[in-house]
Amino acid sequence: MNLKSDLTHPVFKAVASSARLLGIPVYVIGGYVRDLFLGRISKDIDFVTVGDGIKLAESVAGKLKCHNVSVFKNFGTAMLHFDEIQIEFVGARKESYYPESRKPAVYSGTLEDDQNRRDFTINAMAISLNDPDFGEFIDPFEGLDDLKAGIIRTPLNPDITFSDDPLRMMRAIRFASQLSFTINQSTFDAIRRNSGRISIISGERISEELNKIILTSKPSAGFILLDKCGLLNLILPQFVALKGAETLEGIGHKDNFYHTLEVLDKIAPKTDNLWLRWAAVLHDIGKPATRRFSKELGWTFHGHEVKGARMVAQIFRQLRLPLNEKMKYVQKLVELHLRPIALTDEEVTDSAVRRLLFEAGDDIDDLMTLCEADITSKNREKVQRFLNNFAQVRKKLIEIEEKDRIRNWQPPLTGEIIMETFGLSPGKNVGVLKNAIREAILDGIIENSYEKAFEFLLEEGKRLGLELKQNQK
Ligand code: ATP
Repeated sequence: MNLKSDLTHPVFKAVASSARLLGIPVYVIGGYVRDLFLGRISKDIDFVTVGDGIKLAESVAGKLKCHNVSVFKNFGTAMLHFDEIQIEFVGARKESYYPESRKPAVYSGTLEDDQNRRDFTINAMAISLNDPDFGEFIDPFEGLDDLKAGIIRTPLNPDITFSDDPLRMMRAIRFASQLSFTINQSTFDAIRRNSGRISIISGERISEELNKIILTSKPSAGFILLDKCGLLNLILPQFVALKGAETLEGIGHKDNFYHTLEVLDKIAPKTDNLWLRWAAVLHDIGKPATRRFSKELGWTFHGHEVKGARMVAQIFRQLRLPLNEKMKYVQKLVELHLRPIALTDEEVTDSAVRRLLFEAGDDIDDLMTLCEADITSKNREKVQRFLNNFAQVRKKLIEIEEKDRIRNWQPPLTGEIIMETFGLSPGKNVGVLKNAIREAILDGIIENSYEKAFEFLLEEGKRLGLELKQNQK
């Protein structure tokens, strides 16, 4: 098969002519070729040359007049950007692995050697850019057949492929989820056998793949594969602990593992925000640790939202996810995920709504999206009732926000003003007074204004036996 007509972009011409000048063969390989057949135009193009990849990159950069070549001497690779496109060059290679590392020793090799070291048949397809057969499709492992049949399969013995570089196990499941493909049985069995090898992979690499799985349109598919092959228990055992629908004395509770996956699938069409999706993954993570049974109450999970928020930090650390405001956002959503339900009561006070607005701030809409996805009942009528209730909550939130502007709100009196008023130095009383003012405003006892807060401050100060500073009298 010749694919010349698909290689019209000026990059291909430049690469072909540089390789001709240097007298080295060059091929397009990997993701770009796969995506071409999937009808997706990839912005990453990988070239492999049977020669010096760095020299080729430098020559191509000269031709394309781009001067931003990044050279990675240790890896024998080079990268450059042209327009929106990221172009990578590598010399064809053979690899030999050590048991304790996924970084191989590298020797120069043929195109065939290079195709052998690729992770999956669908990622090992190449197209020649050389004179006699420009555009010729080179597919030694029948990757195109696998692509058409929707199959993920390793080119060589899967046990060796996965044991050499165990990250490929995560990649297999990530591609299967992204493309809705099936992992070939013997490939999957090898993942199961080699799952323990994931221990040599860094948390960052693992979570990079996990994030991609979470961002697919049906993330449950990836999680179920991760669970089936044993990887999930190794990378996120807290999630596997959600499994099981136990019944005692005729009272059952739902299986929180499948419930969570349902929530994740339900939130997927509503948001591409990775961290909101993570909040869905972890919203019930505190349930196993807080699960109790009593005859009177049946199953309870009291405080699972607080326990869960604490576990978020531990999990983020374990997976080397960022320990910054993203983590705090996930913690906040996990901790608050039961609160909107409490607001569905007809009788709910303005002050309860105000408090939630204050605590959630700008994340209130995301919190509502999470809560709506959290409704996974099979009973349609019940689902509709809950959704209507949440629509009411959203309405109340808007009304109160318009009235009180409480989201991102800071109480009108600062610590400095409090200290100045009573001639205090920093200490316990300042905090007590500040809290009292905030609570009074949130509870609707006083209006949200400087004047009312100041009046209230004077009264509270008196109650605490504080004297006004001389110049305040
Ligand atoms: P995506 O851009 O969606 O991640 P991709 O296949 O382009 O997909 P890259 O990580 O850019 O992913 O890899 C480019 C090519 O390099 C792959 O198509 C594959 O041929 C090869 N490759 C990448 N990682 C590995 C690996 N761990 N083991 C073997 N081959 C790999």
